[in-house]
Amino acid sequence: ESTSFAVRVAPLGSHGQVLVLAEDQTEHRRVEAVRRDFVANVSHELKTPVGALSLLAETIQDAADDPEAVTRFAGRMQHEAARLTYLVQDLITLSRIQGAEPIPTPGPVPIDEAVHEAIDRCNTTAAAKDITLVAGGAEGLRIWGDDELLVTALRNLIDNAVAYSPEHTRVVVSARAAGAHNESVEISVSDQGIGIPESAQERIFERFFRVDAARSRATGGTGLGLAIVKHVAVAHNGAVTVWSKEGSGSTFTLRLPAFGGTAVAVPGTTTIP
Ligand code: ADP
Repeated sequence: ESTSFAVRVAPLGSHGQVLVLAEDQTEHRRVEAVRRDFVANVSHELKTPVGALSLLAETIQDAADDPEAVTRFAGRMQHEAARLTYLVQDLITLSRIQGAEPIPTPGPVPIDEAVHEAIDRCNTTAAAKDITLVAGGAEGLRIWGDDELLVTALRNLIDNAVAYSPEHTRVVVSARAAGAHNESVEISVSDQGIGIPESAQERIFERFFRVDAARSRATGGTGLGLAIVKHVAVAHNGAVTVWSKEGSGSTFTLRLPAFGGTAVAVPGTTTIP
């Protein structure tokens, strides 16, 4: 990528000296491009279900004398409306988190409670595929953060694990203290699902990036889940990483600062006094 500068020249004093200011525009241009892409993506993602809804409404009008068809199309309308709702909810969540760095009112968050709350909210979808949700290791661990944001991030990871796994498998949520001085907590979500090709692993945290758009939409995905997870991690001065092997499964790991962390600085984490 080329670099560009905005140059400003201002006269200084009465001896002909000038002040030259060079401002790097590259970052500014990149941010602008990302913003434009995002708006284009949002518009596209909104247009798809809205288009489907208006088509279905027309079809229902034509099928007014066929009650069976009316029921079928009404069901599909409900499905499209639900997709719109999820998309709008995720957009609101994402903008709320992006505006909340660093998190406004952090406190000690017990990990076992957050994990159980996240699992509770995913139970129905897991049960529908006979996927067993297992949790362990979180007793006594606490992070310094926002409980709602942590539950949101965990729920997105568990939702994905369930969505991209075949029936009758297991999803394991485990937590442990991490770092040389236990200054972090690691929570990982492991599945036995389809996995993620290595070439895509770096990009999955981008907004609207999907390995397989058709499959993602079929499972009800908005393409925003992992972007939300990443922003929750960043807002906590933490990180999220992925390990995955196609065909055998994926593990997503959230690393967050422990409550009452030690005074030892560790790259990528912040020590809270
Ligand atoms: P989506 O709503 O499409 O699931 P996400 O941001 O949550 O969006 O995930 C981005 C993409 O990463 C998904 O479309 C999918 O291709 C891939 N992905 C995420 N989690 C998993 C997983 N546990 N197993 C396999 N692929 C996954």
